[in-house]
Amino acid sequence: MEHVAGRSINLALSFRGRSALARVGLEQKVIEQHGIPMYGRMIHNPDGSRRSIPYGKADQCIYSVGRRYLNETMLTEAENHPNVHLHFHHKLIHSDLKKGKMVFENNGEEVQAEADLVLGCDGAYSAVRRQMMKMPRFNYSQTYIPHGYMELCIPPTQHGQFAMEPNYLHIWPRGQFMMIALPNQDKSWTVTLFMPFDVFDSLTNPDCLLDFFRVHYRDAIPLIGEEKLIKDFFSNRASSLVSIKCSPYHSSKGLIMGDAAHAMVPFYGQGMNAGFEDCLLLDELMTKHHMDLDRVLPEYTELRNPDAEAICDLAMYNYVEMRDLVNSRTFLLRKMLDNLLHAFFPNSWMPLYGMVSFSRVRYHRAIEHKRRQDKIVRSTVMALVAALAGGAAYLLQRGDLWRTAADTVHAQARQALAGLGL
Ligand SMILES: Cc1cc2nc3c(=O)[nH]c(=O)nc-3n(C[C@H](O)[C@H](O)[C@H](O)COP(=O)(O)OP(=O)(O)OC[C@H]3O[C@@H](n4cnc5c(N)ncnc54)[C@H](O)[C@@H]3O)c2cc1C
Repeated sequence: MEHVAGRSINLALSFRGRSALARVGLEQKVIEQHGIPMYGRMIHNPDGSRRSIPYGKADQCIYSVGRRYLNETMLTEAENHPNVHLHFHHKLIHSDLKKGKMVFENNGEEVQAEADLVLGCDGAYSAVRRQMMKMPRFNYSQTYIPHGYMELCIPPTQHGQFAMEPNYLHIWPRGQFMMIALPNQDKSWTVTLFMPFDVFDSLTNPDCLLDFFRVHYRDAIPLIGEEKLIKDFFSNRASSLVSIKCSPYHSSKGLIMGDAAHAMVPFYGQGMNAGFEDCLLLDELMTKHHMDLDRVLPEYTELRNPDAEAICDLAMYNYVEMRDLVNSRTFLLRKMLDNLLHAFFPNSWMPLYGMVSFSRVRYHRAIEHKRRQDKIVRSTVMALVAALAGGAAYLLQRGDLWRTAADTVHAQARQALAGLGL
């Protein structure tokens, strides 16, 4: 499969991205022709054993989709519209977002263009955003995390099959770092190694690398193949991961969307999904305000900014969940409780992952709901602890035997509280 350097080969597509594709009639095509459903996480323990954690209800899944297929499908659809003109290899070098004027560089030549609205969808290092940064009162912050990523590959088996269970996102959580794998349509896996740059730097020769894999990712060695692992690792370089927040997203004739407005670390699998949802919001506002940009653009910033910043924060949080928390009983207990409560109260109790990946609940509202749910769980557990402690105190008065029993109950209640992360 062709690989575009610096871009992940495949992506997890979830509800928000699907909703945007549905709006332009591409959802079924993308999912049916190019999507591989993943119903949960498959955790690989250091001893080689595996266990699965479902994402939600049995039929809820996200899809692994090849970036190239997705791009091709969307470009082909765009080509079908006579009012869409595609110009490749044009690099934006200057823009005047008050006048809607742009200057591109193409094969050493300067090309001028003018538009009623310049949509800057030019990624984390956006040239359009750079122009906006010259505006007064434009807020901007960026954070590089100390971890980088490198993509490796598990090829198909000799019989041309998937080397692991295909309908999962496979994770090797190892505390301070992790490895994940998403399935590709050609039955290979794109494996992504996430770890601090100093760990990457410490793996200076094939022996070091193999020793490291033998300790942390033993079961992955035969799947990747020793030779291939060494070749791919030393011919690649770890890439950095940046999270960007800024505001506003608009000027009089310019709007930034996608990573240009809110690049995030990739751990919630939401960067592209959030970018697609940006398009839905713009479309909704264009309809609402009859394409009156003076009303559309400020409202776009106002509505989108709290959500974009929320998903940037959630993406940071999910790295800890993926690389570490999935191993803890606390996390599993809370996940079970959330799923149980969701089964009983589907409209009022939604697990965070479900709100983010299987709904269009606004990202910042998802965080608010989660905080409220945490509070309810905390109060319930506290009430239970108080009741148990009261009961234990009563029994205590009745002798040593009961004292021991009360102590045990108390200790277990405290453990339960800690277990729920409260
Ligand atoms: C390792 C990794 C894994 C990821 N996994 C997922 C996932 O599973 N699910 C998910 O939803 N998201 C994922 N993401 C995030 C996702 O890749 C991005 O959010 C998404 O690609 C952003 O799309 P975009 O169009 O805004 O920007 P980009 O994809 O960066 O595209 C920007 C485009 O603008 C062009 N451009 C840049 N500068 C200029 C210029 N000056 N002139 C003209 N053109 C220019 C670039 O060539 C590029 O074509 C992942 C990211 C990484 C790094």
